[in-house]
Amino acid sequence: MPEKVVIVGSGPAGWTAAIYAARANLEPLVFEGAVTEENRLKGTLPLGQLALTTEVENYPGFPRGDSREYLRTALPPERQPYWVQANQPQPGHGVNGPELMELMRQQAINFGARIVTDDIVKVDFRRRPFTLTSLEGRTVEALSVIIATGARANYLGLPSEEKYKNRGVSACAVCDGALPRFRNKPLVVVGGGDSAVEEATYLTKFASTVFLVHRRDQLRASKIMQQRALNNPKITIKWNRVLDEVLGTEKDGVTGVRLRSTTDGSSEELAVSGVFLAIGHTPNTDFLEGQVRLDEKKYIVLTHPHRTYTSVEGVFAAGDVADSYYRQAVTAAGSGCMAALDAERWLAEHGLA
Ligand code: NAP
Repeated sequence: MPEKVVIVGSGPAGWTAAIYAARANLEPLVFEGAVTEENRLKGTLPLGQLALTTEVENYPGFPRGDSREYLRTALPPERQPYWVQANQPQPGHGVNGPELMELMRQQAINFGARIVTDDIVKVDFRRRPFTLTSLEGRTVEALSVIIATGARANYLGLPSEEKYKNRGVSACAVCDGALPRFRNKPLVVVGGGDSAVEEATYLTKFASTVFLVHRRDQLRASKIMQQRALNNPKITIKWNRVLDEVLGTEKDGVTGVRLRSTTDGSSEELAVSGVFLAIGHTPNTDFLEGQVRLDEKKYIVLTHPHRTYTSVEGVFAAGDVADSYYRQAVTAAGSGCMAALDAERWLAEHGLA
């Protein structure tokens, strides 16, 4: 029997779709992604980008406060944060990204969603029921599909950047910033958007100093985030500069960077122990090539205003995989809800559920 709805992805869009689909008795099957080294390096592990962040201050419903008791009752013991298990208070704590994702995941399970910890690597949307194939070789048939695979951080594509990935080069300050190699050392963050400023600010907890390297003379980040960077004595902004090369040695990994001025072409070297890229994102749509319409940046094209329909009837998309504009947890969750309702109505209209 084909599945009524298969959901691919496990960020706020995927889990919200799962909660709504489960409550509509569609018995959703969620492919939450595989736990592999490749996914770790790409930043595409289960639970998505929020699992790579710290405090979430703008998701409605989680004001600052001690959430220990709530997390203890909401999550199974093995998935509770260490500080809940150890009963340590977290002053000023509301919710952080991994907790929010764990809570959504558990909520989906509570309503009957089934979860497979595996990646979908191939789909066939030309025939019905649709076929989805996983990394581990599972094949699943589905009457409808919700794609919520999100997006991942970009790299510059320099050979030296690739060479020192995991040895000082990272695209996730929150995942790697606390590593001993970065403690009390100068670090570089590349980019001028909210992510770059957020990462630079976060890294000042560990680093001796953070150089924020931006290719223009103005930050793209929101005003409030800009102020945080400009007011932080540990952050030095390197205006009008691009990263030309990551410098390092076999023994020590990253030891510095060479920057180039975008105004006069001059070079300068900085001795740093780490380089963090924060230069935007790429949607996780490789497995959809040729199956569903993508735009020039490879985001899924939504074909109807205010709907989650894609170019294939019965295939819906939610969250960052189809949104290069808002990219917020709450908008992703909202569109996950829309996708589940769209799938439910589409199945009913076609007498499929
Ligand atoms: P973004 O806004 O697209 O910014 C990317 C930055 O990287 C830009 O400053 C861009 O420079 C620079 N860049 C891109 N390609 C580059 C290259 N090849 N070399 C050098 N620099 C390059 O991406 P983001 O910062 O990841 O933010 C994405 C979205 O998430 C935004 O809507 C943002 O508001 C949101 N966000 C919000 C928060 C928060 O509210 N706490 C935190 C993080 C992200 P230019 O400016 O010159 O184009």
